[in-house]
This record gives sequence, structure tokens and C-alpha cells, in this order.
Amino acid sequence: MRALSRALAVLSSAGTIAFSTVTLGQSYSTPVGCEDCIVYWYYVDHGDRTDYDCGTATYPGHTGSDYSLRGGNGAIDEGYEIVAAAAGVVTTAVDGNFDRCTSCGPEGGDGCGTNTPGGGFANYVVLDHGTHTTVYGHMRQGSVAVAVGDSVACGQVLGHIGSAGCSSGAHLHFEPRLKNAGYGQLLDPYVGGCSPTEQSLWVEQGPYRGMPGDTCEDSQPACPAEMGRLWTCSSDGSARSRCIDGTTSTETCEWGCTAAASDADDACALAPDGDGDGVRADTDCDDTLETTHPGAVDVCGDEIDQDCSGSDAICDPGTGGANTGGVGTTDGASSSGGGGEVGAGGAPAGGAPPNSSSGGALPTGGSSSLNATGGSGSGAASGQVQAGCQCAWRGGTDRRLGAFSASLLGILVYVTRGRRRFRSALE
Ligand SMILES: [Zn+2]
Repeated sequence: MRALSRALAVLSSAGTIAFSTVTLGQSYSTPVGCEDCIVYWYYVDHGDRTDYDCGTATYPGHTGSDYSLRGGNGAIDEGYEIVAAAAGVVTTAVDGNFDRCTSCGPEGGDGCGTNTPGGGFANYVVLDHGTHTTVYGHMRQGSVAVAVGDSVACGQVLGHIGSAGCSSGAHLHFEPRLKNAGYGQLLDPYVGGCSPTEQSLWVEQGPYRGMPGDTCEDSQPACPAEMGRLWTCSSDGSARSRCIDGTTSTETCEWGCTAAASDADDACALAPDGDGDGVRADTDCDDTLETTHPGAVDVCGDEIDQDCSGSDAICDPGTGGANTGGVGTTDGASSSGGGGEVGAGGAPAGGAPPNSSSGGALPTGGSSSLNATGGSGSGAASGQVQAGCQCAWRGGTDRRLGAFSASLLGILVYVTRGRRRFRSALE
């Protein structure tokens, strides 16, 4: 975030033009690339054709600073460069319009006047500097050298001086504006007796009717030399970082960092699925136990929190030990149909010894929502669990089916959560 120190945010009014007087965190370098190519200067009008220095080098209502090319339109083809006054990002780049206008109107040539793109700038570039923008108008046709979205450095060539749009002869119209301050919130970069600007916006303002200095001063904090715009893994693989326009970002990679090709972002590794239950370790509360993960069936009374609810399910003696937090309650789509089977199965009370082999707990044809969603046979497995008898869960076939159904749910839960995570990462 670029600092903007507002020396004074008061707007003064000169005629119909409102001015903002601020001290930008970023001072300007000359917007013209040539050394001795400018012959006339027309500054911002502060009312009654008064320029910043209380002179008359302006014209009524002029909103920018004009630098007129020595040789006029006849010198356009020599290609005198317009350069960025400060580092920024291109938000507008228009080219292709006639560039030899001789006055601001149709009589000045084809497409000349204010009825052109950019309100008369015709071929022009706008740079965004964070808190403010700069406009470079009337460029030479075919010279615009940047595209929207480009990051440009201070002093970088934007195009050539021309006379496109509302222009009576080859010149650069340079105009800084405050962002988000509404139309007409102009900035006169020059400080002087008749300018509301309290501190020059130029690094070196230069003499009246002379050019500002070409020193660039960018207050943007520089990125560390070793840090680029692409995400790059730290040497120990525990994080990745990048720096864009002076802003450094670092992300912890809990599961390691995977280097990518040189022109792509390095990526934090996905959490492993250590127990192969389809739920990754960043979601699974016990990634070494296949039967334990969010969405799993929690066997009551075994002191294992299979469904990652934070505690083991409590067996309910009144209903034959139907578990809470098991399949029926974790998956919103599940019906509670299995519960009835449990009761019918004559399950022992929840206090049954953990290793008891009470055959009576085995329900027959327990029907749950898992059956309805294609989990063949899983109803029986979950029914056993809901019967509250851990011993039944340990049966070979039943256990596999139970694990399968639990995994299926785990995947569903994981996918749903993963999507949510992905979406929020985009916002
Ligand atoms: Zn102008």
C-alpha cells in the first residue's frame, strides 16, 4: 500500500475546476523523453488565464500541463518520446486516431476536436499509481507502446508526441488526477504563487517554462532482490512467498511446498491421506486410523472419536445403544431409518462389555440411506454400529463394508469442504 500523505485535502475552486492539493507519496519525473524538444509550455489554468506562477502560460479552463514540440506537427515523425512520470499500471491505452490536428474541431482535420476518445485526447494512455492517475494525451498515431494491464516503470516509453484529438499542434498534455475523487479533482503538479498545490509533485520541478527533472522517485517499497512475482518455495519447503510491486506475501505450507516450472507458481502441497480413507490429514482428525475422519460412523462407548466430533459417541441405553453423531446425523441426506432397525434388533444396553459378542445385536436387513444411495450392504454395517455393539463391527465382511461406507461419506464431506475452501480462495 502506497502511502499518501495528505498535506491538505481542502479543495479550492478556480472557475469551474476544483483542485485537490495533496502531497503524493510518489513524485513525478519529466513525462517527456527528449532533452531539448519542448519549446512552449501551457500550464493548468487557475482562473482568468492564470498559471501556477501567476503568469499567463495557459488558456481558459486548461486542466493539464502542455509541452509543445519544437517543430510542431512537422516534427511528429521524428518520434519524440513520452515517458511515464512514475511507476504505475496502464489502465487505458488508445491508439489509431489521426495525429496531425491543427485545431480543436473538425476543421482541424479528420477526427479532430473533443468528440474523440478520452474527451479530446484521442490517442492516449492513463497510468494508475494507486492513489492517483496520470494522463498522457494527443499521442502520435501508431506510437502507443503499452497495453492495458502493463506495469510500467518510471521513465518507460509510453508513446510519441503527436497532435491527435483536440489539439492545435504537436504537444503532450500531461494531467495527474486524484483517484476516487470524482471528475474535476485535478492536481496541478506545480507549486507556485497562484497554485493551490502546497508541495510540488515533481521530484525536481524545474524552472518556469522549462522541463522538470528526469529523476525518478518511487516511494513504493522495493521488493527484495531475491523475491519475484511468482510464488516461490522457501528453502526448507515450509512456506512460499512472492513480492508484487513492493508488497510481499508469504503462505505457510503445512505439508511442504512443490516447486513448479520456472515460469509458474510454486504450490503448497496438499495434505496427505495417510490412512487411505479418502480424507486428507488437514481435515481428518486421525489420519492414521482409516475408520476415523469427519463423517465416519462413531461407535459409541469405545472411547474413539471416529467422526471427529470432539468426543466419543455416548451409547443410549434406551434405544439399544443407537449412536449419536453417526451416519444418520452426520450426513444431512441420510434418513434415520436405521434407528428403527436398531431398536428391533434387541441391542444390548450401551453398557455392554466392549468385547461381548452379542449376536442379538446384529440387525437383519437394516435399511439406511446408504442403501438408497447405492452403498450395497452398508445398511447392515451401519445397523450393526447403531446397535451399539462394537464386537459386531469387528466382523470381517461387515467391517470392510462399514469402512467402505464411512469412506464414501468421508469423501463426500471432503469434496464439499474442499469446494468451499477453493471458492473462498478465489474471493
Ligand atoms: Zn493540454
